[in-house]
Amino acid sequence: GPAALGIDVGGTKVAGGIVAADGTVVAIARRATPGASVTDTEDAIVAVVEELAACHDGELVGVGVGAAGWFDSTGDTVLFSPHLAWRNSTLRKDLAARLQRPLWVGNDADAAAWAEYRYGAARGADLALMITLGTGIGGGIVLDGRLRRGSHGVAGEWGHMRVVPDGRLCACGNRGCWEQYASGTALGQTAREVARTSPAAAAGLLERVDHEPDRLTGEDVARAAAEGDPLALELVTEVGIWLGQGIADLAAVLDPEVVVIGGGVSKLGEMVLAPARERLDRALPGRGFRPGPRIAAAELGPQAGLVGAADLVRQDLAALGHRG
Ligand code: BGC
Ligand code: ZN
Repeated sequence: GPAALGIDVGGTKVAGGIVAADGTVVAIARRATPGASVTDTEDAIVAVVEELAACHDGELVGVGVGAAGWFDSTGDTVLFSPHLAWRNSTLRKDLAARLQRPLWVGNDADAAAWAEYRYGAARGADLALMITLGTGIGGGIVLDGRLRRGSHGVAGEWGHMRVVPDGRLCACGNRGCWEQYASGTALGQTAREVARTSPAAAAGLLERVDHEPDRLTGEDVARAAAEGDPLALELVTEVGIWLGQGIADLAAVLDPEVVVIGGGVSKLGEMVLAPARERLDRALPGRGFRPGPRIAAAELGPQAGLVGAADLVRQDLAALGHRG
């Protein structure tokens, strides 16, 4: 089968890969996401495409780009992006003009959801939800074998459900959004708060950043947790609890068979998933009287987004072929 190029544009990095028809990633490239302007971000996307296409050009049927933004129902326009500069931006047109290849563009977490349905933890599920934990929380819905994007294209933006009244400010402009409590950013934010107020409790974390609390990031906490730092473990557990609570709330609305957890934070595996499952068990509405969803780690890991984007351009091409 044909290979395609997949790109995942997140809040912090642009990751690209050549993806074979069976979902395996045969080459990768990445760089930091320049988020200050739309042109900078698009330049980085084009650069990653060119870098990968340089040695695989003949094999590629097209390019799929999953991006951290809210796409309209046509999929042509990025209406808004909390973490990047897109505001009513004509991403498809811009990229089509520059890449001159068959193209799929859409939301990063939608692409990840599709990948997990096609090749990963959501195979065969009639209703699967994807949750990506990275700079923000991304979401995707696959129902009856199809990616569902809502009436206006922006379904699954559950990172912006209000979980805390008057809570932390979010890049979307609201307060108390779920992604302010259960993302990589949230992990860093809480760590900085603890380190500023209680340097003693955060001694192990502070050692990693020359005792400058403001420098602590979610990645620092994740690394420390993996090495057994007790505060870091506590913070990761807290993220897992917020995750499980949110999943209980989503289950009240959508009753999914499986909820797949991906994104950078999911590299922590059971450290996040175990407390999430425990919370789900305690918080699922109607628990004890109804089945709940399975919580599964993304089998494609943090590569789900680029794998899904690559497959979605293949799906578009196949549909075109059928239509003749
Ligand atoms: C955005 C989503 C995106 C997610 C992950 C959220 O803040 O609203 O569109 O999928 O971050 O990148
Ligand atoms: Zn928000």
